[in-house]
Amino acid sequence: MSPAPRKDPVAVETEVREKIHLEILKRTGAYHANDHVLLPSGQHTSEYIEKTLVTTEPSFTEGLGAVIAKHFAPWPVDVVLSTGPGALILSHCVARAHPSRPVVVYGAKGLSGGKRRVTIPVEFQRLVRPASKVLLIEDLVSTGSTLTLLINLVEQLGAEVVGVGCLWRRTSVELTGKPVFSLVSRDFPTYDPEECPLCKKGVPLNEEFVRRRHARRPSSVHEPKAP
Ligand SMILES: [Zn+2]
Repeated sequence: MSPAPRKDPVAVETEVREKIHLEILKRTGAYHANDHVLLPSGQHTSEYIEKTLVTTEPSFTEGLGAVIAKHFAPWPVDVVLSTGPGALILSHCVARAHPSRPVVVYGAKGLSGGKRRVTIPVEFQRLVRPASKVLLIEDLVSTGSTLTLLINLVEQLGAEVVGVGCLWRRTSVELTGKPVFSLVSRDFPTYDPEECPLCKKGVPLNEEFVRRRHARRPSSVHEPKAP
């Protein structure tokens, strides 16, 4: 009998690491697996991630940030740049754990003439200088469009992107030749309702995430009106 084929140790390590990180994201309540979820698009899936919840547990975020920092430790980094509140929390944790002790700066996302735009505050411009080494951090990368804007912004300032670190990257995303390190690289399988294998098996459909969007409003308060 021939021995069982041995798996590539690097692939095994990646697989194990990914399982651990998925378990962490499950503990935060952000990642739902083995479910049958209705997506806002009307499609069905077995997995779902709620981006807002990803960085709510500080000790988990610190641990995940340290893994990203360790990966990029051989590269000198002057600046860690991100955009969006979740990515900013993670970027703080990455910068704190990186041996170069980089500074943390962030951009703001917006729309200009119907086009997406990323801006960095003028006070940060003296920190992102020509030849600065910049590490970009994202929480979830689904289309890569924000990262493309960030890369263009850094290059416009004459600085250099040394890499991109993220918690989760959809495997379908192609990024412009920069080294990318993601803790989880995974795409959700999505199905049209007519072709959904979970519907065929009679698994009850979880409409919670779509219903919440319609039925729930964010909590807010207003300043009282002047009398
Ligand atoms: Zn279904």
